[in-house]
Amino acid sequence: MKSNNLFSFEVKWKAIVTCDKRYDGKFFYAVKTTGIFCRPSCKSKTPNYENICFFKNAMEALQQGFRPCKRCRPELFIDIYDPQQEVVEKTKFYLEKNYEKKVTLNNLAVKIGVSPYHLSRIFKENLGSTPHKYLENIRIHKAKSLLLNTDHNIMEICFQIGYKNLSSFYKHFKKICGCSPHQFRINNKKVN
Ligand SMILES: [Zn+2]
Repeated sequence: MKSNNLFSFEVKWKAIVTCDKRYDGKFFYAVKTTGIFCRPSCKSKTPNYENICFFKNAMEALQQGFRPCKRCRPELFIDIYDPQQEVVEKTKFYLEKNYEKKVTLNNLAVKIGVSPYHLSRIFKENLGSTPHKYLENIRIHKAKSLLLNTDHNIMEICFQIGYKNLSSFYKHFKKICGCSPHQFRINNKKVN
């Protein structure tokens, strides 16, 4: 369970059950089953305590992919709430968790809840990159770590990070690292 040190679980739980306004802004809670986060005083139904997690601030909850509750509007505690930033953060979070799966712009857009066109445009405007490029970077980053820290062969690593064939793995690896996976391993592996 995610928590912070400022208040104990008991204190936070009591604040939620009693809708205690004094804790608004001091911590936030999210309900894992609904994907929504709230301020402590929210009047919505008290969640099952097994399903909640806590955040120090509202931005942290957004970054973890939770949506602000429409009733208590916890996002108002963020200085400037930027719905575009929310789309970007949710997309990054999703890609980091699912990089090894097949991800298309269409199914990504469905997960994030915007149209593929908007997702692509917002992502590019905010990060100067497409979601696909961002995904490639995550995969290659993981590949580098697997090359250096495991004895898995190149083919295994290729599939572990979500590529369906060696040639696209080689192509992207070379584009980002300037050498082949094999060369990278030789050049960087620590001698024990
Ligand atoms: Zn709420």
